[in-house]
Amino acid sequence: MKALSHDVLIVGGGLAGLRAAVGLCDRYNVALMSKVHPIRSHSIAAQGGINAALANNPDGRDDTWEKHAFDTIKGSDYLADQDAVEVMCREAPGIVYEMEHWGCPFSRFPDGSIAQRPFGGAGYPRTCYSTDLTGHVLLNTLYERAVMKGVRVYPEWYVTALATDDGVCHGVAAFDLMNGEIVPITAKATVFATGGYGRVYFYSTNALINTGSGIGIAYKAGVPLKDMEFVQFHPTGLIGTNILMTEACRGEGGYLVNNRGERFMERYAPKAMELAPRDIVSRSIQTEINEGRGFDHPLGTYIKLDLTHLGEKKILAKLPGIRKICIDFIGIDPIREPIPIMPCQHYSMGGIDTNAKGETEVRGFFAAGECACVSVHGGNRLGGNSLLETIVFGKIAAGAVDEYLSLGAASPKEETVLRAARETERKMAALVAGGKEKTFSLHGELARTMSANVGIFRERAEMEKALEEIGRIGERYRDVGVSSPDRHMNYELMNAVELEYMIEVAHTIAHGALLREESRGAHSRRDFPKRDDEKWMRHTVARISVDGSVGISFRDVTITRYQPMERVY
Ligand SMILES: Cc1cc2nc3c(=O)[nH]c(=O)nc-3n(C[C@H](O)[C@H](O)[C@H](O)COP(=O)(O)OP(=O)(O)OC[C@H]3O[C@@H](n4cnc5c(N)ncnc54)[C@H](O)[C@@H]3O)c2cc1C
Repeated sequence: MKALSHDVLIVGGGLAGLRAAVGLCDRYNVALMSKVHPIRSHSIAAQGGINAALANNPDGRDDTWEKHAFDTIKGSDYLADQDAVEVMCREAPGIVYEMEHWGCPFSRFPDGSIAQRPFGGAGYPRTCYSTDLTGHVLLNTLYERAVMKGVRVYPEWYVTALATDDGVCHGVAAFDLMNGEIVPITAKATVFATGGYGRVYFYSTNALINTGSGIGIAYKAGVPLKDMEFVQFHPTGLIGTNILMTEACRGEGGYLVNNRGERFMERYAPKAMELAPRDIVSRSIQTEINEGRGFDHPLGTYIKLDLTHLGEKKILAKLPGIRKICIDFIGIDPIREPIPIMPCQHYSMGGIDTNAKGETEVRGFFAAGECACVSVHGGNRLGGNSLLETIVFGKIAAGAVDEYLSLGAASPKEETVLRAARETERKMAALVAGGKEKTFSLHGELARTMSANVGIFRERAEMEKALEEIGRIGERYRDVGVSSPDRHMNYELMNAVELEYMIEVAHTIAHGALLREESRGAHSRRDFPKRDDEKWMRHTVARISVDGSVGISFRDVTITRYQPMERVY
């Protein structure tokens, strides 16, 4: 087994990974590894937009980054670290203009400035967009730049393990899918930008590749995770497929309507209505459904997202992708008929514990983007803030790596990455020789129990049931077998390796959710319906114990100038 070697290894070809790579490739030998081609990363699917207080919209001329920070902190239900939020919101305009100058084709106002639309939980219309393809244009712009600058890309390489030793990261072991080989790779600095864990849930807007295995890999290697109980449920997933109907549908003026024809948001958020933050809108929709005011459908009970009053011209100009998805997947044209939607898992607020520079507790190991928890979203992320986070903190993590390398990082130990690669070999051999359990059915059971028992509304008994089931699934995982010993493009084998990490991720989510005895942001406990600032204004930090159980410690939230108050919209 021969090790490859790079100064910097970035795992993940989405926006965070590409931005980190672009920031480092002039000075270092940078490699970017991704289990799919970079432009197939989930960032490509982002529709609605990216937030920055540009004050271009005629309805928001006096917007400022401080107002953006306030909205973000209030939206987070005061769990976000305010110093990190301030950095993100202050950097936002510069980041958007940088992307514009690199060629990103944003939609425009008639005066030529970058167009901005209203989004949930925001006091001003500050979401910059490109029709409903914002992630697509941002990702292609950054990918082109990475290629132009000569970043070495390893597409379809799945990282299987992090190689750490004595609190230092030495690189990774990876599965080269095309050649079917396990390859050890040393790096002085490793950056994870591996995205979210949506597929740990059954109903999710996320791509099938969003297994969260990067988060699980870091956790298994002893890196702590933060605030894992905070899972975002998006209000509007298309019934049946759960494909996202962007918040821009409501930003452009769409209504939510129940089976009595009521715009029921009036009851829950009389001022903000459909543009309340996602945690509130999702709970409102679920309450309408639970109390019998939804519509029946063979695919489930739904609520209507009505765009018909926006008119053909606006829908074609602002939401053409949404219209096409509705026609292609459910045979409904939103110009003429409302869209049937239900809330589903959407975003991972928790993740790898980092500081505001993207550094983790392990030297030489950094994280950015959705897999990381900085934390800028706290208990609930505002729409449009995640694309922003990926680029801002991808760039900042690159700066932290540069600083780390300039100060003379330790030489990576080849023996440590070889050991990680041998361990992957052993695991894969066991999976090939393995028993009767199948990855897809265990994954299905895991995801169903998470959606059913650790969902929008939570209760002790349900979460205990989830933990029991996760434990049983973990036991059965030992008996997983794959159908073919051939390693070349063997996705079943890759998924089997990933499942072990998904089980750990689910475990930390359920564990944190059971422990946090309050309701804050997206974490809503029926048995503890109130926010408890005295006891719970703190982050949970989950660390794997020697016996495999989850050990939790706590860390105070950083407050700068925004004191907690009641969240009304
Ligand atoms: C449908 C949808 C619409 C959205 N719309 C918006 C929006 O309008 N505005 C907004 O702000 N946010 C939006 N979001 C959220 C936002 O798009 C994501 O949070 C963000 O793009 C994540 O970027 P990332 O770079 O962190 O990860 P991703 O883009 O998810 O990329 C992860 C990368 O990691 C790689 N990877 C993962 N594990 C491994 C491994 N073990 N080995 C090798 N490679 C690995 C993958 O191949 C991929 O390249 C949306 C999300 C979804 C699902």
